[in-house]
Amino acid sequence: MNIFEQRESNVRSYCRSFPAIFHRAKGSIVYSQSGEEYIDFLAGAGALNYGHNNDYIKERVISYLEADAIAHGLDMHTSAKEKFLAKFSELILNPKNLDYHVQFCGPTGTNAVEAALKLARKVTNRTGIFSFMGAYHGMTLGSLSITGNTAIRSGISGTSNNVTFMPYPYGFMENLDTIGFIESVLNDVNSGVEKPAAIIFETVQAEGGIVVAPIEWMQKLRDLCDRHEILLICDDIQVGCGRSGPFFSFERAKIVPDMVVLSKSISGYGFPMSLLLIKPELDLWEPGEHTGTFRGNQLAFVGGTAALEYREISNLEEEVKVKEAFLKDFLNQEIASINEKIKIRGIGMIWGIDLANFGGTNLAKQITSRCFEMGLIAERVGRNDTVIKILPALTIELSTLKKGCLIIKQALDDCLQQSVSA
Ligand code: PMP
Repeated sequence: MNIFEQRESNVRSYCRSFPAIFHRAKGSIVYSQSGEEYIDFLAGAGALNYGHNNDYIKERVISYLEADAIAHGLDMHTSAKEKFLAKFSELILNPKNLDYHVQFCGPTGTNAVEAALKLARKVTNRTGIFSFMGAYHGMTLGSLSITGNTAIRSGISGTSNNVTFMPYPYGFMENLDTIGFIESVLNDVNSGVEKPAAIIFETVQAEGGIVVAPIEWMQKLRDLCDRHEILLICDDIQVGCGRSGPFFSFERAKIVPDMVVLSKSISGYGFPMSLLLIKPELDLWEPGEHTGTFRGNQLAFVGGTAALEYREISNLEEEVKVKEAFLKDFLNQEIASINEKIKIRGIGMIWGIDLANFGGTNLAKQITSRCFEMGLIAERVGRNDTVIKILPALTIELSTLKKGCLIIKQALDDCLQQSVSA
């Protein structure tokens, strides 16, 4: 039994799917301690949009450390925070005409979700939240209460407090007027559902199986929230920071949420950081009303500032378009054509191969295990983990992207043939 099995909690998970001891990584290649090479299609679950140890960002981080600059500063003003806020305004908020206050939250995504829920309740004096079936927002109690996966919530009390799950335009609901349904619930005095403080949504349900919300649906959602004076919160933790193409994933619908939660790749280097963007008129916090020791990690500010610059200099948004086109073609032509039960969904550089029509969870699991044997890290998401998720760094070289996709194709072919002959 190794030290991990001996000492680490049973809760550990990714390490079970990818059984190696990882040691080094560069760009989109990860190396195990024993020297194996893996192409990374997981990218820290979206925390490594700029690849592992991106040189441009790394250099800034190293010089910051070497200068004995502030490593921890609570929420005091620091030069690192000043530079980050200035760069974020200059390169992201101002050109997009977005006026938000920035709240730095505890280190991880779920902390920003909690802050958003709390602020929405405070601002509106209402307690209810509408979330969507299939949603994923994190694992602390508030975030868990708005996460759709009932298996991970079962037996944990306090997770259903005043939360109503509404249908997301997916599967059976895809052809239903889901916004019309929400509207009728709000208008029906006998619906049994009170008007919520906020509706929280993902523009692409990532953990939910790579389900991309239609533009018109998002626009109708914004309009519904306006008419009913409900706050609209966009959880852009996984698909923000350029994952879908533009910096924010809601930009494609030309809507402006009242609050936005960001984390994962905002620090550029895989450092923990999460933040909540708040329309200024909603920023009704009293000083210190939502506090915490680790709010705004200084290295994350440095990494995040460099990442925003790198995005500009390397024209990353254009690069994503090229790779999106490749992924779309490859998956539709080379993968979907293998069997009509295979469904492909995605946008930008987040794509899913949905194998739910084969039943059970086995096939997707077999394929991702086979991929790992062949040197590719890819995880499974969606209902019963039947969707293979393709989430490479945005900076991945096209040749590496192709190589990784060919591994998936080979693994899929192998496993389907096995299942036919079994
Ligand atoms: N929201 C979304 C959309 C996510 O994908 C995640 C993480 N997978 C979270 C919230 C929670 O973030 P964290 O794991 O950093 O708490």
